[in-house]
Amino acid sequence: MTPPADLCLSIDLDDLRHYRAIHALPPGPAGEDDRLFERAVPRFLQFAEDLGIPTTLFVIAEDLQRVEGALEALREAVSRGHEIASHSLTHRYDLSRQPREVMAREVREARSRIQEALGVEARGFRGPGYNLTPALLREVAAAGHAWDSSILPAPMYWAARASVVAWMALRGRPSRSITGRARDFLARPRTPFRWPEEAGGVWEIPMTAAGWLRLPLIGTNLALGGFLARHPWNGARNLPFVHIEFHGLDFLDIREDALDPDLGIEPVLRVPLEERTARFREFVAPLVASRRGLLLSQVPSSAAPP
Ligand SMILES: [Zn+2]
Repeated sequence: MTPPADLCLSIDLDDLRHYRAIHALPPGPAGEDDRLFERAVPRFLQFAEDLGIPTTLFVIAEDLQRVEGALEALREAVSRGHEIASHSLTHRYDLSRQPREVMAREVREARSRIQEALGVEARGFRGPGYNLTPALLREVAAAGHAWDSSILPAPMYWAARASVVAWMALRGRPSRSITGRARDFLARPRTPFRWPEEAGGVWEIPMTAAGWLRLPLIGTNLALGGFLARHPWNGARNLPFVHIEFHGLDFLDIREDALDPDLGIEPVLRVPLEERTARFREFVAPLVASRRGLLLSQVPSSAAPP
C-alpha cells in the first residue's frame, strides 16, 4: 500500500526590521514589528484552520520578550494545536559563518527561551536565510532539536538572491543577507532525509521546490500568481511530500496595517492582502483535499531518501 501523501505548511516570523536589513532601508517606527504578531499570526492561523490543516511557526526567540503581543499570539497558536519551532535567537543572516560559540548560543538559548516562555519543546530549527553548514547542524543537534528545516532546493532562488546581494554590494548599500552554500539549493532531495553524523545526524525536512525549473512553493510566489505560482504548483501535485513555506509578511497589508510605504520594495506587499489570501487558498485548498496535513514534527522520520 502506498503511504498517504503529506502536506505541511510552515511560516517564518521574520520581523519587518529584517526586511529593512535585507534592502538596506533605515530603521522603521517604534512598534512596527508588533503588527507581525497582532495581525499576521492570527490571519495565518485562521487561513490554515479554514483549510483544516495544522501548521508549524518558526519564531525568532528574542521576539518573545522584545515584541509586544508575541507571547500572546504564540500561546494562542499552541492552544489551537499548532507547533512552535526555532528560527534562532536573533536571526543573524550570517549565523552559519559565525564561530562555534556564537552558533551554540543562538541555537541553544533560542530553544530554552521558547521552552520557558511557552512551555513547549521546540523540536525543530530553521536557519536564518536558509543557510546551513555542518558546524551549524551539529549545534542544532547538540541543542536537542530532532529535525532541521532549512533546505529549499531551488537553484533559481539561490541565483536570484546571489545577484541581488552582489548588486547591492556594488551600489555601496550592502545587504545583510548572504549568498549561502549553492549546493543546498541545487542538489538536495525533496523528501525528508537524515544528515550524516558529521553534520549532526538530525532529520532534514525540506521545503518544496518543483517543476522543471525547481521554483519554490513559497508564499511570495503563490501571492504573485501567474507562472511563478502555477509552475511549481503543477509540479508539486504528484509529489509524495509537499511543504509550503510562508513568511509573516505574506499576511500583512501596507494600507490595512498602516505600514511604511518603503516596505513596498517587497513584491508581495504590492498585492492587496485580500487578493493574496484568495490566491493562497486557490493553490493550497486542492492540495489539502488530497493529502494528510501534518505538523513538521509529525512527518514520518523513516521516510527513505529518493
Ligand atoms: Zn527568516
